Amino acid sequence: MNLRLDGLGAGGAGENLSLAFSGGRMPHAVLLEGEPGSGTFRLAAALAEAAVCLSDGGKPCGRCAGCVKALAGSHPDILTLDGDKNPRAFPVDAIRKIRADAYIRPNEAPRKVFVLLGVQNMSEVSQNALLKILEEPPDNVLFVLTAVSAAALLPTVRSRVQRFPVAGGSLPEDWAQAERLARAVTDSGGAALLFGTAGLVGDREKFRGILKQLLLLFRDALALRSGGTACLSGRDETARALGGGLTRRSLVRMMEETERALHALERNANTALLATAYCAGLRSAPGR
Ligand SMILES: [Zn+2]
Repeated sequence: MNLRLDGLGAGGAGENLSLAFSGGRMPHAVLLEGEPGSGTFRLAAALAEAAVCLSDGGKPCGRCAGCVKALAGSHPDILTLDGDKNPRAFPVDAIRKIRADAYIRPNEAPRKVFVLLGVQNMSEVSQNALLKILEEPPDNVLFVLTAVSAAALLPTVRSRVQRFPVAGGSLPEDWAQAERLARAVTDSGGAALLFGTAGLVGDREKFRGILKQLLLLFRDALALRSGGTACLSGRDETARALGGGLTRRSLVRMMEETERALHALERNANTALLATAYCAGLRSAPGR
């Protein structure tokens, strides 16, 4: 699976996950370990979306039927139980139901995804029920677990999941500039947009970082427009403003422009020309 989770989760967790899923043997169960606010929830959502994404390219693409349903929280092949919100989310009956369900073929995605958030709140009885399926998982099933620490799990369960530490604390990136740029996109004159990219021309790494953040913001805006509630970027207000001011088609086009700019940057394009072309591309997106 060609995962595209770079920049998600603190401490390079998204990059590590992308690597783990790029080989021939993919994990059947992953555990994202981290404090609330470290990005475990967003990573879990993005990974689930990637697992049901129907694109041939980088996953999640954010716009195929699978991604749109995942973002809207209505994908039939993703089941989420949230033990962070509700510590009683994992009664043993629910786990047994998952076990039975895992052996039924997915409805429309390549695999079924079971997202279990906050498994530090899972009882030993439920963990033992979960262990039975983790020991012999069907091929087309992915378990995505999050926990404050793997120490909360039984050693037998711990040994069956691939662990990904998500560094503590909040996301380190500075979103201010990306958010300013994103808001400038809806500004009809476009002057603010050009002004905003001016500072990026000399700094290739910063440019790349901002483009990745913009991609997330556009995706979130699209998700909100499609009826979704979860924001991968965590910048709900900006995403909502974008989603309210731009059409779906326009947002898709802006994602494409941003991806194109990222590719060009990888190929060492001239940053000054790239910034100008990127702004022009954003401004010409239809339906603004
Ligand atoms: Zn997709």
